[in-house]
Amino acid sequence: MKPQDRLFINGRYVEALGNKRIEVLNPATNETLAEVHRAEGKDFERAIDAANAIQGEWGQMTPWQRSAALHRVGDAIERNLEFLAQLETDDVGKPIFESRNVDIASGAATFHYFADACMALGGEVKPSPYNEVLDYTVREPLGVVGAIIPWNFPFLIACRKIATALAAGNTMVIKPASWAPMSTLQLGQIFSEADVPPGVLNICPSSGSDAGKALAGSPMVEELSFTGSTQIGRLLYSGCCDPIKGITLELGGKSPGLVLPDCDLDETIAGTLFGAFLNQGECCCALTRLVVHEDIYDTFVPRFVEASRGIRVGMPREDDTRMGPMVHPDQLKSVMDLVQSGQDEGATLLCGGEILRDGALAKGNFMSPAVFADVKSGMRIWREEIFGPVVVITRAADVEDMVAQANDTNYGLAASVWTTNLKAAHTLARRIDAGTVWFNLHNFVFPSAPYAGYKESGLGSELGIEGLRAMTRVKNVMVSLFPNGFQWY
Ligand code: NAP
Repeated sequence: MKPQDRLFINGRYVEALGNKRIEVLNPATNETLAEVHRAEGKDFERAIDAANAIQGEWGQMTPWQRSAALHRVGDAIERNLEFLAQLETDDVGKPIFESRNVDIASGAATFHYFADACMALGGEVKPSPYNEVLDYTVREPLGVVGAIIPWNFPFLIACRKIATALAAGNTMVIKPASWAPMSTLQLGQIFSEADVPPGVLNICPSSGSDAGKALAGSPMVEELSFTGSTQIGRLLYSGCCDPIKGITLELGGKSPGLVLPDCDLDETIAGTLFGAFLNQGECCCALTRLVVHEDIYDTFVPRFVEASRGIRVGMPREDDTRMGPMVHPDQLKSVMDLVQSGQDEGATLLCGGEILRDGALAKGNFMSPAVFADVKSGMRIWREEIFGPVVVITRAADVEDMVAQANDTNYGLAASVWTTNLKAAHTLARRIDAGTVWFNLHNFVFPSAPYAGYKESGLGSELGIEGLRAMTRVKNVMVSLFPNGFQWY
């Protein structure tokens, strides 16, 4: 396998017609990693035509045939795991430990899961008011699905969108994020290796606005599947009304973690740290707001700060690194601006929040994990998605106060509760406005578990059988069993 820098259309890597490029940086050094071809309107037309031309054939395949093809994709990813992990690490800056064990491994698992799940996807026989009328439903593919994805888990999110859509019989044109397009481009090679028919998957790096116009504006694209910020999601949503098409939105988050006095302290420190700082905190469901019960606050907070200071920030290719650089100098700047705003608005910075320039880190976008206390509801660091290694902590008087603080946000992606009291845990799960609630766990997302944001965090469901069904439309079929036909005259 070798790194690809051209568009993947109709089963081949091709040059962009306009001959424009996107410069991709290695965030650990800010040196150029690649100059990737940049698709524009005509390139998207080629990609959409290719996806449309093969959709009938792919959609008519039996689930057994599609399943076999998707399993082959999963196998090909596994065969190339090390290459893909290194490329992902160089492109995004995430620790190699994570790229291997989370991004690429879960990408392969996602293809295997949906390869199996599509064989369980079927319609239903409906209750009929007449014994002489058989009523049943079939699930059909939507057609061509357009996908636009972010840079934080590029390979994994691409795999989720592609596996789900293709398992349901759709074909796809996908646009990776400009800051991290490399691993998604490799999927062209993976699909060729897996002998998937040309045109089923097409990959077009491009500017966001060109991709948005081309995919939302095409009458041949039946559905848009977007993962990214709430701001861009809103824009795309309004762009999907002419021509009318479906849209799935997986958007931003500001997820709380509720620490109750009866939690297991060691488990909670380890788990909340993982929740907050996995992938440098560049995680949509990251634990960004720690709401700590008064009775455990003075014990928990110093331990959490000490543990945060101990996280190894380092070069992402090193095995023991647990936090790499921010994906891009602009992202580092945006996170540092919010750290500054926290200080300006009166929160107390307990640790971190500094740009790291020592030794090997000198040229990259590295910063130390930041923890704030004395945070108030109106502050920007409480309200805005920071998308970096910054956690804000508040003190809560009682459980009612914890629930109120957890829900004090426009977002509703995820939350976690840290307690050994099962009754409290299940009761709280119902009271938190979020699509996912974890207990004594954070940031676990499985291909089989539906993932959906409440409030400004999204629309529709991804993953699980729910996500698979969302990639189909339902047709109702009625059959006359009347012995002599239905007589009305
Ligand atoms: P972003 O700025 O919204 O970009 C996401 C994608 O949209 C990129 O491919 C981007 O292209 C494209 N885009 C930009 N402008 C566009 C436009 N006018 N029309 C159509 N597409 C456009 O988000 P990001 O900074 O990449 O990612 C971080 C965000 O993603 C965070 O808010 C995070 O919470 C969210 N996220 C959510 C989930 C979830 O499952 N809920 C998962 C991961 C991330 P360019 O790269 O070319 O600008």
